[in-house]
Amino acid sequence: MEAKVISLRPEYDVTTEQAGKLLALQREILEQVALDVDYREILDALCKSAEQIVVNAVASIMVYDQAGESLSVLAAPSIPPEAVALLNGLVPGERAGSCGTAVYQNEAQYVVNTRTDGRWCDLQAFAHDFSIGACWSSPVKIEKDKAVGSFALSSFEERTPSIFYKQLLETCAHIVGILLIRQEKEQSLFHLAHYDPLTGLINRALFKQKLSSAIEYAVTQNQQLAVLVLDLDGFKDVNDSQGHEVGDKVLQQVAKNIQEDLGEGHVFSRLNSDEFVILAGSLGQPPSVQLLIGKILALFKKKILVEGHEFTLSISIGVSLFSEDGLSASDLMRNADTAMHAAKVAGRGCARFYNEDLTNSVKYKMDLITDMHSALARGDFLLHYQPQYCQRSNKLAGVEALVRWQHPEKGLIPPNDFIPIAEESGFIQELGLWIFTRACQQCKAWWDRGIPEFSLAVNLSVKQLDADNIQKFQEILLAMKFPIHNLELEVTESLIMHQESLVALHKLEALGIRISMDDFGTGHSSLAQLKRLPISKLKIDRSFVKDLSEDENDRVIAKTIIAMGHSLGLKVLAEGVETVEQQEFLAQEGCDLIQGYLLSRPLTVEQFSDLFKAV
Ligand code: C2E
Ligand code: CA
Ligand code: CA
Repeated sequence: MEAKVISLRPEYDVTTEQAGKLLALQREILEQVALDVDYREILDALCKSAEQIVVNAVASIMVYDQAGESLSVLAAPSIPPEAVALLNGLVPGERAGSCGTAVYQNEAQYVVNTRTDGRWCDLQAFAHDFSIGACWSSPVKIEKDKAVGSFALSSFEERTPSIFYKQLLETCAHIVGILLIRQEKEQSLFHLAHYDPLTGLINRALFKQKLSSAIEYAVTQNQQLAVLVLDLDGFKDVNDSQGHEVGDKVLQQVAKNIQEDLGEGHVFSRLNSDEFVILAGSLGQPPSVQLLIGKILALFKKKILVEGHEFTLSISIGVSLFSEDGLSASDLMRNADTAMHAAKVAGRGCARFYNEDLTNSVKYKMDLITDMHSALARGDFLLHYQPQYCQRSNKLAGVEALVRWQHPEKGLIPPNDFIPIAEESGFIQELGLWIFTRACQQCKAWWDRGIPEFSLAVNLSVKQLDADNIQKFQEILLAMKFPIHNLELEVTESLIMHQESLVALHKLEALGIRISMDDFGTGHSSLAQLKRLPISKLKIDRSFVKDLSEDENDRVIAKTIIAMGHSLGLKVLAEGVETVEQQEFLAQEGCDLIQGYLLSRPLTVEQFSDLFKAV
């Protein structure tokens, strides 16, 4: 019985039966695509369907490898692995068999006899070993004129393709092209959803997945893992001063530096703006975490060069360990984050390991830091002024400005409860500048109202002793025409440890500002160091004054400090004087100035003004 001829396309005549086979093949593939079957499985199914239509032949799909130089086999379910291995790496050319030539020419190749055809002359051994008689191959295209691979049918006999076979080949190659496009899109969607476009690092979502898998594996291997959350210190300043484009480049550079430093074996991800995370696996012992931390911190000792600008950045690191600090990815990441905040609070540029106590203390401190920022904007901070008297004349010699926080809910908070945290977090820069300005303004206002001038002492944290701050002080004083000879800054002995602070101190002296050494006797400065400092006053710490009447030791210390100060040409002030006995002893030893509850507590602006109304 002769099959009825139908016309699918004008140049091809295919029988109804053949057309049915082709449609069935297309429908089958379509169904698998709709069911979201893995594309490699679909490609295998396509090969098998084609093999069922063309008997005594095997199908294969080749595509360009990553580099785009040679072809590799993507699907060939009926070809033995040793043949696949030989085909991999085929470089397209005019004698590269049917597939290599099809890709090279971007045109279907129908080799009827592999033994005599020039296109197969370099593959004779292959044809012989695997009994390939004929091979027809059609290029797979993603774009119109660009072959990215091939779909081929290799026969175990010499064979000429019918019009139908040619059409089958073309259809299969077309389907492969569609599947490849779909796969590429899925891959780029995956990439979009899992990679950070700025640095190319994996993002939080993928990091979490990888951490979860690592945990599962670590459990079975009894392995230790460490999660390190890294956060750049002061990166906002880079963005603010240099703009976001430069900021982005700095982040890229930082990411690159860390990645190069890490090498293989660690998972590295960007969490958000300037926060990164590392999963350090197969660590064995905790010391290797220390090693890793040391490496990263050392990395930030070097300057970062971006577009001709040099940046000095530091990084705060928080570490949590599996399994001590958490059993899930979320717990480990949260706890490493808490530890990172502890590192920030501890002064930045350092690392902290998580422990349970951190959760509360860090939270308390973080809340306080946030609260302090808004307190400054709200105008919660205020200054009290404690008079300092000349011991001999009993006259007012000066005042010390002391900050307080009038909290809307917690009431009046003393400085010891927030100054240390402001210092640790760096907020002291901002707060200190406000204190300095307000104290100078207040005294200037008093003097302008006719109150006789006295000296103003402002407490300074070591963190405020840098060139930037000094410049700002100078501008503020100039703007309000403050009589600089009345200004005194109280610093503590710890500044001796910092070269930058010493430089700043000399700058202050050059401006005509006096420096007094606060809490003297509690630190470790030697006489030799003291001699080299540009100071004009020593303040005997309250702790030595407190027990003057009972403790012979304290009496000796106070006496010595006074004598030593005088021998260096310095004035000596005793703070915390609460009793007449204390005052009498200090007078006897020739102490120059007295400050303490005996004479006056720290006063509000109104209370201090009242002192002068009474006169
Ligand atoms: P400090 O600089 O040693 O200030 C002297 C502290 O002793 C003040 O406490 C003052 O109120 C207190 N005091 C004065 N006379 C007596 C006394 O007779 N008996 C007793 N028991 N205490 C007395 P305050 O105001 O609570 O300040 C505590 C510390 O907070 C200060 O110690 C200083 O280190 C810091 N601080 C205060 N204001 C500022 C500031 O504006 N900037 C900075 N950086 N630190 C500040
Ligand atoms: Ca002080
Ligand atoms: Ca003091």
